[in-house]
Amino acid sequence: MSLKIVALGCIHGVLKKSVVEAIKREGPEAILVSGDFTGSVHDDEVRKYEKDLVENFGPISQFWPLRVQIDSEKKFARWGRIAAENTAKVFNDLDKLGIPLYYVHGNWDSVSTDGRGMLENSGDFFIDQVEGKNLKFIHEKVVKVGGFSVIGFGGYRGSSAKEYLIGDLPEDDPNMEGIRQVREDMRRRMERLFGKIKDPSRAILLTHDPPYKLHDYLEAAKKNYGEKVTREVIEKYEPAVCVCSHFHEHQGLGKIKKTLVVNSGYGREGQFTLIEADASGRVSVTLKKV
Ligand SMILES: [Zn+2]
Repeated sequence: MSLKIVALGCIHGVLKKSVVEAIKREGPEAILVSGDFTGSVHDDEVRKYEKDLVENFGPISQFWPLRVQIDSEKKFARWGRIAAENTAKVFNDLDKLGIPLYYVHGNWDSVSTDGRGMLENSGDFFIDQVEGKNLKFIHEKVVKVGGFSVIGFGGYRGSSAKEYLIGDLPEDDPNMEGIRQVREDMRRRMERLFGKIKDPSRAILLTHDPPYKLHDYLEAAKKNYGEKVTREVIEKYEPAVCVCSHFHEHQGLGKIKKTLVVNSGYGREGQFTLIEADASGRVSVTLKKV
């Protein structure tokens, strides 16, 4: 039952030729992408523009002078179009590899079922609506790859969004009730997927966020920002592997109980991961940068 998979994430609009060539060389049975296809070649330009606006007019856009609001809308619409074009090209290039590719969404990607609306610089582009012969969006789905089941659960910090904004709260804080409900909902949805799996030691969990306290330390905030529910579910079911990305600076391999947790790194900069299983199902992971 030997198996070879390429795991890739955080492509952000730029799929390097060296990555395409490396994937062809490796010839995997499948590719898993942990989200963040979307990006813009103008990232630095966008950030500088946003910073200048905030410095000059403060952070609340409705109070900006009208001419600035109009100028901003035009600029962001143009950047959105560029981002959408780049994302479409990434999908096209991946599809052309002719290798089955399973993917979930990251925080930069828009999906049609997500009520939160689109990010300003992701453009009018829903990544779950992409059509390609070899591409399959597997958020909240389970698919078979070789002898393994791949469980897709994308998105961004479903349970902890409020915690991210508010910071750590004591359990008896009134804001915790809402957070607990969102966490419960996420746990229930993830456990429903694990309920379909007979043998978790032959399962791969594909997420965008890393589990809490692994590959998730944000130096600027001196805090771990990984997903707590994902960690709890991993501890309960112990899938063979969890593949994630999101923290570009933390490509790496770690372990939670029996689960190998792989942050496949910053795909846009040529990082990816090779996951191999031998005939007995024993899994090994190799971190790559090309
Ligand atoms: Zn990313």
